[in-house]
Amino acid sequence: MTDFVATKAMFHLPEGMIYLDGNSLGPLPKATAARVEQSITAEWGEKVITGWNRAGWMAQPTALGDRIGRLIGAEPGHVVLGDTLSIKVYQALAAAIDLVPDRRVILTDNGNFPSDIYMAEGLIKSLGRGYELRVVDPEDVENHINDDLAVLMLTQVDYRTGRLHDMQALTAMAQAAGAVTVWDLAHTAGAMAVDVKGYNADFAIGCTYKYLNGGPGAPAFIYVAPRHIDSCQPALSGWLGHEAPFAFDLDYRPGTGIERMRVGTPPVLQMAALDTSLAIWDQVDMAALRKASIALTEQFIAGIEAQCPMMTLASPRDPAQRGSQVSFHFEHGYAAMQACIAQNVIGDFRAPDIMRFGFTPLFIDAADVDAAVAVISDVMRNRRWDDPTFKQVSRVT
Ligand SMILES: *Cc1c(COP(=O)(O)O)cnc(C)c1O
Repeated sequence: MTDFVATKAMFHLPEGMIYLDGNSLGPLPKATAARVEQSITAEWGEKVITGWNRAGWMAQPTALGDRIGRLIGAEPGHVVLGDTLSIKVYQALAAAIDLVPDRRVILTDNGNFPSDIYMAEGLIKSLGRGYELRVVDPEDVENHINDDLAVLMLTQVDYRTGRLHDMQALTAMAQAAGAVTVWDLAHTAGAMAVDVKGYNADFAIGCTYKYLNGGPGAPAFIYVAPRHIDSCQPALSGWLGHEAPFAFDLDYRPGTGIERMRVGTPPVLQMAALDTSLAIWDQVDMAALRKASIALTEQFIAGIEAQCPMMTLASPRDPAQRGSQVSFHFEHGYAAMQACIAQNVIGDFRAPDIMRFGFTPLFIDAADVDAAVAVISDVMRNRRWDDPTFKQVSRVT
């Protein structure tokens, strides 16, 4: 059983701030700065290039990958870190497409994160083989699974509403139709338990700077099912995915196992930061996390609905149907979120009218939820959002 009072004490949370945005950028673990400092001074500073061997830098992408693997139910040795999530979307989709050479349809939904869709469009364009990206409503995905389908590419938890796809059922359905699946776990990993092995997923990808607290710019991860790893083509065929990078051969031969999904030099300092946050995650029981997360989201919804009739729930009401975030529609959502942020309750805004709040039991507790509801209700009842300073839209919302 995870002790969430103890985990909360492991994070640096700015004084007076209630941080309901750990789903977008996880906060800083207290141990991270010293670990990164050590990586800079004792490893980079003293070991210089020998750090690749003597500080284990070259092994970090798979060593840390296995620790993320536990959180997503992967077999050991089947998750590797590197690049950003957008790059991993491209890589996984390109590899998946190649496994179904006689089909041309890629299916996704309009609740997917735009970057996933943009990367798919870019891949299709550069392949020039007549692929079609079919973008349908989330509720309608299963009706479009048929014998034309090459790849089903979905994000399990909708980034705006928190709506959850039934990953196990959709995977089974797509595979029964002869297709391959690519699951984006950006809002799943660290939010709730998932079982890529048990669900028989083909490819899964995700990022480590959201719920996993790896810090801004932390690398992405990719999972490839054991049945595909020795036959799939990595598409982004960089030297560190080569069978023998230091042979410097002029012909590319993919490496063995998950190593082939590596591309280039890993971000060593970001990995040091991630190493620290994963030390917290190593102790977390995912069933206990999910239970705590549901209690927080239920409490928040009940509080807002009692106090703020002008806000309407955008997330599924059934906790089994949503991830670890709650969103509300409000016509002046952008300004209202700015007004909340001015009172140190941090959530975010997603166009056109969604106020989004993430609930992360590692550092958010019931008292925080009550305090956040009180601030949001003050902003709403007293129309504090109706102020020109809150209506100027910044670059990052
Ligand atoms: C956060 C997120 C991304 C961001 O991709 P980066 O390349 O890491 O910036 C992509 N897809 C989904 C589904 C996300 O939630």
